[in-house]
Amino acid sequence: MISTKKSFQEVLKEHHYELKTNRPEIFQINLGYLCNQQCKHCHVDASPYRKEIMNKETLNTCLQKIDELQVQTVDLTGGAPEMNPNFLWLLDELAKRDLEIIIRSNLTILVEGKFKSYPEIFKQKKVRIISSLPCYTQENVDKQRGKGVYDKSISALKKLNELGYGKDKNLILDLVYNPGGASIAPDQSALELDYKKRLQEDFDIKFNQLFCITNLPIARFLDDLEKAGKALEYQQKLIDAFNPATLNNLMCRNTISVSYDGKVYDCDFNQMLKLPSKGIQKIEDINAENILQRTVLTGNHCFGCTAGGGSSCQGALT
Ligand code: SF4
Ligand code: SF4
Repeated sequence: MISTKKSFQEVLKEHHYELKTNRPEIFQINLGYLCNQQCKHCHVDASPYRKEIMNKETLNTCLQKIDELQVQTVDLTGGAPEMNPNFLWLLDELAKRDLEIIIRSNLTILVEGKFKSYPEIFKQKKVRIISSLPCYTQENVDKQRGKGVYDKSISALKKLNELGYGKDKNLILDLVYNPGGASIAPDQSALELDYKKRLQEDFDIKFNQLFCITNLPIARFLDDLEKAGKALEYQQKLIDAFNPATLNNLMCRNTISVSYDGKVYDCDFNQMLKLPSKGIQKIEDINAENILQRTVLTGNHCFGCTAGGGSSCQGALT
């Protein structure tokens, strides 16, 4: 984490704001760090070489806690969540419950090997798909996510559209933009219009919403910033753009994040920084009392969530 003249905690104090959680609505499960890609901006350092995968026992405990807490949404992430060997079993279990299922799919996995059949399965279970496409141009996507990623992503989007994703009201397909370098995410609604126009004109592709996510200075993205000598400059940019209007909507207020090994965090960024949720170490420890009104563990990386229009796994906050 980058140290700064004024910490995030001090800035909160200046605004007389204590960052407390509400009742969790979103239960985010990181199914493991294994991924078929190795993107430059990846904040979980996922890659084809990672071995960390959530096992069935931990998945079962997650299901038990999802029931106890009566969360409205389960958000499956990774790595590539599809690559967890128990992924389809988990999907079956979740589909038996009355809740929204989100899969953060990187798209390219959906055109590879056995995973080609997954879009149909997602459709049957009315899973909401949220996928990263950091630009509508091939050059920028391949630069951030690897050669050939753009073409595979477009093929997957076409397939999802054929199945009704992005078109039928029950089949939601959202895309995620994140900046290619050391800049803050731009205005989300304006960029969504650009994306819709370009993807429609170039490929006849439709999607629902665009989420703009600012890159937090951690993990592989921080390594790249440091190599380029831009880490401090970027951190200062985030601090200068602090927007108090984002605070009430920060995702740590209504989300809990569980890592592959069953540890509990206030968000997946804290997960990557190994900053556990205060007072709750493991998923087994969660109960109806201790899950409410926790004080969020913050650090200077949090300036990435409060810059400009704000940033979260569901895009802008204001
Ligand atoms: S950003 Fe997503 S697709 Fe890229 S390496 Fe990380 S988890 Fe995989
Ligand atoms: S990184 Fe963002 S979501 Fe996580 S604790 Fe900080 S402000 Fe909250």
